[in-house]
Amino acid sequence: MMMDSEERITLFAKVIVPLPLPKIYTYRVPFEWTNLVFVGQRIAVPFGAKKIYSGIIHELTDSPPEGYQANYVIEILDEKPIVSPVQLRFWEWVAQYYMCFLGDILSNALPAGFRVQSLTKISLHPDFDPDNIGVLDSRENEILAMLLNTKSITVEQVQNTLKVKSVLKYIKSMYIKGLVSMEEELKENYKPKFSEWVHCSTFWDDEYEANLALNTMERQSVKQFEAMMYILGAPNRQIEVKKLTSTKNISRPILNALQKKGYVQFVKHQEDRFHAIQGEGESFEFTESQMKAVAEIQYAFDNQKNVLLHGITGSGKTHVYLHFAEEALKQGKQVLFLVPEVALTEHLVTRVAQLISQEIGVWHHYYSTSERTELYEKVRMREINFVIGTRNALFAPFAELGLIIVDEEHESSYKQFEKRPNFHARDAAFQLAKLFDANILMGSATPSYEMMQLSVDGIIQKVNLFERFEQQQFAEFMTLNLGELKKQNRMQGFFSDLAVAAIQDKLKRKEKVIVYHNRKGYAPFIQCGVCGHTTQCVQCDIALTFYKSTNQQRCNYCGYQQNIPKNCPGCGSTDLVMKGVGTEKIVEELNLLFPELRISRFDQTSIKKRSDFQKILNAFEAGEIDILVGTQLLAKGIDFEDVALIVVPDADIMLNLPDFRSHERAFQQLYQLSGRAGRGKKRGQVLVQSYQPNHLVLNAVKEEAFLELCQSELLERKTFGYPPFSRLIEITVKHKDQQTVFSAAAHLNNILRAKLGERLLGPLTPSVSRVKNLYLQQFLLKMDRQKDNIPRIKEFLMWAQNQVQTTSGFSAIRVDFDVDPN
Ligand code: ADP
Ligand code: ZN
Ligand code: ZN
Repeated sequence: MMMDSEERITLFAKVIVPLPLPKIYTYRVPFEWTNLVFVGQRIAVPFGAKKIYSGIIHELTDSPPEGYQANYVIEILDEKPIVSPVQLRFWEWVAQYYMCFLGDILSNALPAGFRVQSLTKISLHPDFDPDNIGVLDSRENEILAMLLNTKSITVEQVQNTLKVKSVLKYIKSMYIKGLVSMEEELKENYKPKFSEWVHCSTFWDDEYEANLALNTMERQSVKQFEAMMYILGAPNRQIEVKKLTSTKNISRPILNALQKKGYVQFVKHQEDRFHAIQGEGESFEFTESQMKAVAEIQYAFDNQKNVLLHGITGSGKTHVYLHFAEEALKQGKQVLFLVPEVALTEHLVTRVAQLISQEIGVWHHYYSTSERTELYEKVRMREINFVIGTRNALFAPFAELGLIIVDEEHESSYKQFEKRPNFHARDAAFQLAKLFDANILMGSATPSYEMMQLSVDGIIQKVNLFERFEQQQFAEFMTLNLGELKKQNRMQGFFSDLAVAAIQDKLKRKEKVIVYHNRKGYAPFIQCGVCGHTTQCVQCDIALTFYKSTNQQRCNYCGYQQNIPKNCPGCGSTDLVMKGVGTEKIVEELNLLFPELRISRFDQTSIKKRSDFQKILNAFEAGEIDILVGTQLLAKGIDFEDVALIVVPDADIMLNLPDFRSHERAFQQLYQLSGRAGRGKKRGQVLVQSYQPNHLVLNAVKEEAFLELCQSELLERKTFGYPPFSRLIEITVKHKDQQTVFSAAAHLNNILRAKLGERLLGPLTPSVSRVKNLYLQQFLLKMDRQKDNIPRIKEFLMWAQNQVQTTSGFSAIRVDFDVDPN
């Protein structure tokens, strides 16, 4: 901003704070900071009576806000902006398209390390060493004194005691020095790692003195002399203590002696905590069909078109992706490689690291706050140019993005559904790419019908890769008729004698077996055999799921858990039976059928830590597990050598889900599974038990007829007006009181119905009518992609939401919009 030196211009900052607020508030910048504030910078601002938040400057202006007196900005938290203008444009788009507030985006986009606020608790670092504090200024010393007296204090308490508002900079400085830790880290049970180093002191800067000292030392103490030579010879004249003691055989007392003489200092280094992995950059040659695909993709990119790579499993899509990644890196651009699932990243990172020649940053929520904060800075400073991550990696602070790869584009986990923003990473990637003028390369063996339709419409380019790298055959896919088998008495629990025989046969030959069971929407629960009563969650309207391992019942929506009742709460009977089948139950039954085998489970509940994924997979790969029982996690692109047989005991679960996408998804799962089988030398086998053995989806998998199924399903969706031919928004109204939620929904209905008419369905009570103590009412809005002005309708919905919330009695009503629901 240009300024007349005579004129005193007061700047106002519009600031995004991490709260779901419809409005952006304006703060006054103290005059002396006029040249120190920038858009995208992090500052501390007061909010409400006492609270302080870290916010991001969204806009700077010289006009004061209308209708209220602006408060002063309290503190500048970083010298430079941490959010770029392009990122801010992206945030705005996400907020608008997915119908939430910029504050929701901020909470989602920035690692917690950047979101310190007045209620954040700080405490002494677990490794705090009173003898090694370093230089503190007087404020820092006061804070330290407070922490020595109490275990933890809030930022607000620090403010009150020191009687100054701007304390965050002191806390930040102590945090960087490793003296304090913050609450979120403690929750995640995280400790930053420190290592002890020796640094040469300034004594050695004087060459004459240095030579003299070395000569004396060599005569008096060879050990000290040797140690000193190592340290002087190390990069930057610093070396890790452990390295000297363990590999150079230099003892601690010798180093202490050097310190006493003023030759060296001990310094703690905080280790790099996020996972950055150095790539090896192995070279490889493309097959002919890969070469053709690469040429087609290049042609599409040259013509400004994004690409959908339809490549069957094992065709080598990863090699193709990485070719284009290297190209972008060579041009000095950054690359984002999106993967659907945390479970997949670890595996993929190893593979990618072999082929990519640069450092790789891994971005997902399994890493701690500090790790993510550090990675954020490295991406922003362009120290890391290749990022692999799950959907939130879209919010990484890229400076110059050249390519976005979306692996397994069809995966539903790209959609965030449990919190705002309810964005779909693949779809949002289109916007991010546009802002950077970057290319998108999506890939899948079973593309989503949405992307298939975009390619039919000519909006994106589809490129085919239909040849497997090693000419394996697609698995032999067989269906077994459950109805018939039951009639003939050939079922032992969930498994037919045919399935049991097939499993036995493979195991005898030391081949691997997977049992696939997608229990989504089909959890085991306890039911009374007399009156039919089922135990419900106390907070949600849903049956509790039974977990044998802890002998407890748990709510899959809110996490509430309780012990199994001895008597039926309805009639007092003790005749309680288990209904429904989970993977646990299947494992139990397999144990009965094959008592001598080692059987393991692979699903979200059996896997809690990030290391568990790899542990189980490694054990299976090493042949330490005979049968792996897993949910859809298993079908997601994990390669196994020598999986000879995959058994699906109950395919009807996926075929019968009440959802217009159930056929698309069932095909994806079964087809991807079949791609896992027999990847070694032999042809694999997939055995599917179903009451509908001739179901069109099962036939399509058998015949590898993806395109045919897709075409007929798209036709049907067009007829019935389902996406991608229409756009859906799910509207959920929530409140802790049932009556209030009913009347609020009725009120909203009145407002919406007048404008939207037949497009609006509802209000209705969803099958799970209460979640986390909030009662729910739902609407479904179906809009025509061509005829309706969808952005206008979204604006209207946001306005209507505000109308409801400002009606008396409804201020605590929550309205959530799920745009393009899964
Ligand atoms: P997709 O992801 O399409 O299912 P992958 O990328 O997993 O296929 O490739 C299948 C296997 O073939 C992998 O083991 C991969 O390393 C190997 N592969 C594919 N293309 C090449 C190539 N051009 N050179 C060497 N190995 C390749
Ligand atoms: Zn009962
Ligand atoms: Zn619950």
